[in-house]
Amino acid sequence: LAARAGQETLQLYRPSMGEVYRRRFQLVTQFRQAVEQGDIVVHYQPKVRLSDDEVIGAEALVRWSHPEFGLVSPAEFVEAIETTGSIEILLEHVLDIVLAQIQAWTARDRRLSVSVNLSMRNLLAERFLETVAGQLERYGVPPELLLFEITESSVMARPEVSLPVLRDLANLGVQLSVDDFGTGYSSLAYLRRLPIDEMKIDKSFVQGMATDMGDHAIVKAIVELAHNLGLVVVAEGVEGAETKTMLEKMGCDQMQGFLLSRPLPVDKFETWLKTRASVGDDPGGDIDPLR
Ligand code: C2E
Ligand code: MG
Ligand code: MG
Ligand code: MG
Repeated sequence: LAARAGQETLQLYRPSMGEVYRRRFQLVTQFRQAVEQGDIVVHYQPKVRLSDDEVIGAEALVRWSHPEFGLVSPAEFVEAIETTGSIEILLEHVLDIVLAQIQAWTARDRRLSVSVNLSMRNLLAERFLETVAGQLERYGVPPELLLFEITESSVMARPEVSLPVLRDLANLGVQLSVDDFGTGYSSLAYLRRLPIDEMKIDKSFVQGMATDMGDHAIVKAIVELAHNLGLVVVAEGVEGAETKTMLEKMGCDQMQGFLLSRPLPVDKFETWLKTRASVGDDPGGDIDPLR
C-alpha cells in the first residue's frame, strides 16, 4: 500500500505503517464530506481513433483534491472506500459530473463518449441498475455515449454474479468495456458470453511493447482476439510515438496515453481539443502529476 500510495515521492518519504493507516482512516472517514465540498473531481483523458486521429471520447478519472494530502490518486482512495457504502456515492457523483458534461457537449454539437470506471462493489450494489437508468434519464443523455469499464480481474472474480448484471446494464444501451485486459485470468469461453463492446489492453504490455518482444506479441494477440470476437480494442498507456506506429500496424482501433495527453480538468481538456496539440506534447504535465 505504501509503495502504491504516492508513487515516486513515497519511496523517499517512507511513512510508517501507523501513518499509512492513519491516512487511510482519514480518507475513509472524510470521503462523504469531500464529495459535498466538491473536492472529488473528474479529469478527462482523450481517446483517439487510430485510423483517422479523431478524438472520439474520453475516460473520466477521478481525483481527490485533499486539503492536507494534495491530489490523491484513485488507486489509493478507491480501494480504501470500497469496503464502505461510499463507493456507491462515488459512482453517483462521477455519473452526475460526467452525464452533465456529455449533455453540455451534445448541446454544443460535440459528440463525445465518456468512459466511467466501475468497481465490482458497484455492480453488486442493490440499487446499481436503478441508479444508472435514473441518471441517464434525468440528464437525457443517449445511453450509447456512456461506457462503463470494469477490470478483467473483477469481472472474472465472480462471473456468475457479474454476468446477469452486465446483461441488464447492456440492455440499458450503454457500452461495456473490459479494462486492464491481460492481467486477469479470463476463460475465453466465458469472455465470449460477456455482453461487451470493447477491450482495453493493460498498459503494462503497451508500455513494454516497443522494447520487449514478449509484450509486443501479447498486444498483437489481444488485438486479434478482440477483433475475432467483434470487439473494439483500445491500447492504454501509450507514451511513445514508436508504440503508436506499432499499434497502427497491428490494426488496433483506439489509443489513450500521455503521448496524446494526460488526464485533464475539463477546461484544459476543452482547450486541448481545440488546439489539438501536436503529438508528443504533454499539456497536462504540470496539472495532473498522478500516474
Ligand atoms: P484505469 O482505469 O486502468 O486508468 C488508467 C490509469 O493509467 C489512470 O491512472 C491514468 O491516469 C493512467 N495513464 C493513462 N495514460 C498513461 C500513460 O501513458 N502512462 C502511464 N504511466 N499512465 C497512464 P489513475 O487516474 O491514477 O487511475 C488509476 C485507477 O483508478 C484506474 O485505472 C481505475 O481503475 C481507478 N479509477 C479511476 N477513476 C475511478 C472511478 O471514478 N471509480 C472507480 N471505481 N475507479 C476509478
Ligand atoms: Mg479505466
Ligand atoms: Mg451493447
Ligand atoms: Mg486500465
